[in-house]
Formats: sequence, structure tokens, C-alpha cells
Amino acid sequence: MNPMYGGIEGHTPAYIHALINVLYIEGPSRFEGGSLQMALALQAVIEQAGGRVVANASVEHIEVCEREVKKVVTRNGNEYQADRYIAAIHPSELFRIIDESAFPRAYRNRLESLPNTYSTFNLFIELHEGAFPYINHTCYYERDYRHIWRLGEYIEGQWPAGLMYITPTSAHQGPFATHMIINSIMPYEAVAQWENTLTGRRGTDYEAWKKARQEDVIQLMELRYPDFRRAIKRIYTATPLTIRDYFRTKHGSLYGYAKDSENILRSQVPIFTKVSNLLLTGQNVGLHGICGVPLSAINTAEAIVGVNQIIRKM
Ligand SMILES: Cc1cc2nc3c(=O)[nH]c(=O)nc-3n(C[C@H](O)[C@H](O)[C@H](O)COP(=O)(O)OP(=O)(O)OC[C@H]3O[C@@H](n4cnc5c(N)ncnc54)[C@H](O)[C@@H]3O)c2cc1C
Repeated sequence: MNPMYGGIEGHTPAYIHALINVLYIEGPSRFEGGSLQMALALQAVIEQAGGRVVANASVEHIEVCEREVKKVVTRNGNEYQADRYIAAIHPSELFRIIDESAFPRAYRNRLESLPNTYSTFNLFIELHEGAFPYINHTCYYERDYRHIWRLGEYIEGQWPAGLMYITPTSAHQGPFATHMIINSIMPYEAVAQWENTLTGRRGTDYEAWKKARQEDVIQLMELRYPDFRRAIKRIYTATPLTIRDYFRTKHGSLYGYAKDSENILRSQVPIFTKVSNLLLTGQNVGLHGICGVPLSAINTAEAIVGVNQIIRKM
């Protein structure tokens, strides 16, 4: 299960391995019909409480004066002011948009020097009707299981070392899958030569490279399921650059900062910052994923409103 948490030999703390595994042992959960429902449900809660969710609004500037955020400015020039602000983005992105005087240089340097978890090459496949069975768990397949702790290494010609694939649950799920997501771990260095390009305009050499890597993944999948190709209706691919530009995580990292058992304190990022009305949340201040990120959110919320006994009880 290393691809699910970015496990690296000699560095990943045992507690991360244990936490991710226990979720699976107790039974993984899936959103029937996709996870967008979760976002929409949260939006409804926010709106019922009098809040507003503003989508498609890239924050391009956070103005700070005397270690206090004064306003945030979005790409289209809208300005927002509040008593408190929470940044749920990768700290590197925060440093890009916030006034330079906001944080001490040592803080920036420390966070910028932290290693991030590796990225992935992702295939989203639409399947032909009745062509591939629905599987109710995440699947893993490795060429060589001795390599499992070193998936972040990229050797052209030997990639991919393995696959992590799922058939997401559709509403009224029957015996056959409608689509499949395949992730093959890939470090950023594999795409670094195109790092100054933008989605849709990365050039023909990138497109050709992407097509070749897609073929690599399908060929490995065919070792597992001969004739897999015939089940494919359409494929969309994403690379570490896609993930970088979509989530704005450094180097398209899957799970944010990598934790290190050699130096546990180094990768710990406090919720509080030197900017008095700015708090942090998200995978970089705790654990990643559907389990970790809500826990960070609770910690951040409790830093503002105090410990919530109902949540603690749950
Ligand atoms: C391909 C992939 C597959 C994954 N699969 C799983 C899985 O199966 N199970 C699981 O539990 N976890 C999975 N994860 C991990 C999980 O998605 C993350 O841990 C989680 O989404 C992190 O949540 P977050 O709120 O910290 O950050 P994000 O989800 O990255 O949210 C940050 C948001 O801020 C936005 N943003 C960034 N900068 C700005 C800005 N300047 N202005 C406005 N908005 C901005 C980003 O666009 C993004 O929407 C996967 C991650 C990836 C990339």
C-alpha cells in the first residue's frame, strides 16, 4: 500500500503506515457516485450558516501589514476581508502569493527545504459497457515487490514499477465497472523539462512522451489482465505537471510534505503562524487524504472556536 501514503524506505514513520493500513483493515469507504457530493454537502452547510463559497477564484495576493492579513485579492481583482483567514494550500503556494514580509525568512527557508511526497502518472479510463468487472477495493500490482519502498525512483525504460488502480463506485453499481483510475508513481523529475509550460500548451514532445507513458501503463496492466486494452473506451491522462497546476502543490506532490522518521519535528508544521490572524490547515499540517485532512480541519477550527465536545466524542 505504499503508493497510498508515499512510503519511503528508512524515512516514512511507522505511524503513517499503521494509520493508512488500519483504515483498510477496518474497511475502506467509497462515495457512491463520486466525491463531488461531499463538496456540495459541505457547501450547503456553509450556506445554511450564512457563508458563501466562491469558486474559480484564484487568490493572487494576500496583503499583510504588521503581521496581520488585511485582505486577499483574487485574479479578477475582487477583494475579501475578514477577521481571520485560513490557508488550506501548499505553503509554497502561500509564499508565492503572500507579502514577503509576512513570515521570517527562516520559516520560509525551512518549509521550502522540506521534501515532498512523490507524484503520479494518472489514467482516467472510460470502460466499455460490460467489459471489465467492478472490484470493491483498491488494487495494487508491482513488477517487483522488493522495489516497493523505492517507488519514487524514476528509471526511463523500467517505469512504471507498479500500479494502483480502482474501479470507482457508480450509483446503482452492478457487476461491471464503468470507469477505472490507474495511478503509477512518478517523481517530478520525469517531467521537469516541461516545468515552464501550462496545461494544454506543453508542446508536441510532451504529448508524445505522455502517450508513450500511457502505453507503458497499459502494457503493465495487460500483464495483470490480458486483453485489458479491449475494455478501454477513452483515456484521459494526467502527469505530475497536471497535478501541480491543478492543486498547486509543489512538484505535483500527491500527499504534500513527506514525513521523516529520522527527524519527526522537521516536517511538523504548526497550525498557527507568525501572522496573527492567519491559520493553516490541510494535508501539509497533518496527514493527507480523506482521513487526515478532516482531522487537520478540526484542529484548525478548534484553534478558533475552542474544543468541540461533540466532535471529540465522535
Ligand atoms: C491523483 C491523486 C489521487 C489521490 N487519491 C487519494 C485517495 O484515493 N484517497 C485519499 O484519501 N487521498 C487521495 N489523495 C490525496 C488527497 O487528495 C489529498 O491528501 C487532499 O486532497 C489534500 O487536501 P487539502 O485540502 O490539504 O489540499 P487540496 O485538496 O490540494 O486543496 C487545496 C485547494 O486549494 C486550491 N488552491 C491552491 N492555490 C490556490 C490559490 N492561490 N487560490 C485559490 N485556490 C487555490 C487548489 O486548487 C485546491 O483545490 C490523492 C491525491 C491525488 C493528487
